[in-house]
Amino acid sequence: MSTITFECPICKITRTVDLDTSRGRGIICASVSGDDKCPHNFIIFTDTDLNIRRIQRVDHIVRTSDDGRFLARGMSLRGARKVFGDTLVDIISCILLKKPVLLCDDPDVSITLYNTLARIFQEPPELGRDVLIIDDCDVDGQDVLVVNCRYSVVLKGNVPIDAHKTLGRFIDEAVAINDNEAAVVFVRQRISALQRAAEFLVDRLELPLYAREVLAIVEKSTGIRLKYADLHAVRLILRGLGQDRILRNLIMGDLDEF
Ligand SMILES: [Zn+2]
Repeated sequence: MSTITFECPICKITRTVDLDTSRGRGIICASVSGDDKCPHNFIIFTDTDLNIRRIQRVDHIVRTSDDGRFLARGMSLRGARKVFGDTLVDIISCILLKKPVLLCDDPDVSITLYNTLARIFQEPPELGRDVLIIDDCDVDGQDVLVVNCRYSVVLKGNVPIDAHKTLGRFIDEAVAINDNEAAVVFVRQRISALQRAAEFLVDRLELPLYAREVLAIVEKSTGIRLKYADLHAVRLILRGLGQDRILRNLIMGDLDEF
């Protein structure tokens, strides 16, 4: 954790914010809520060297309550898939890549969606850092994903599609389950397996290895059985972890998609 200081562009008061620097790479995002001295709310964007890229003023920032409990219930996974369609997969992909997701335009829907997202990750994305909820959609840049929750569409930000095939399959299999709790657990276990596979490879992929052999050692050592397409999702997670060397060592292309 690092603390950085900046001046409020409106009232010129010095503000500080704690940033989690344990992130892989890319853009670090943090929300700064108004206090007694400076009533202004911001989202601050820095690079991993903590150079401030920009400071965006926002009207309203939603946080969890101090005891960390969620402010509202989530929607069912089936409901989220129905309402958000492939945008749901876009959002999950960005969370795996550690790309900040900004949910805008409808705070109630945004909170509900966040609560659903939080449940499908073993380690939930943090509100105010990984997922930010704001009123105003007018955010610059491609380094974050901006989703309009009123219309369920991605407004800005490049979406990595590497994991779409795998995540789409997980969600479709999950929503076929009638019980929402079971569906959520199903997706959480599968996403968690991808993350564990990625972490395993960080420790183990010292030398270049073809996908076929990678699938075999992952299964042998961890019991996680992945399909070839799932390795694209694992690669996305490795990108999020900043593991460029491991990515180079994982050689794709020796197997047809199956
Ligand atoms: Zn201010």
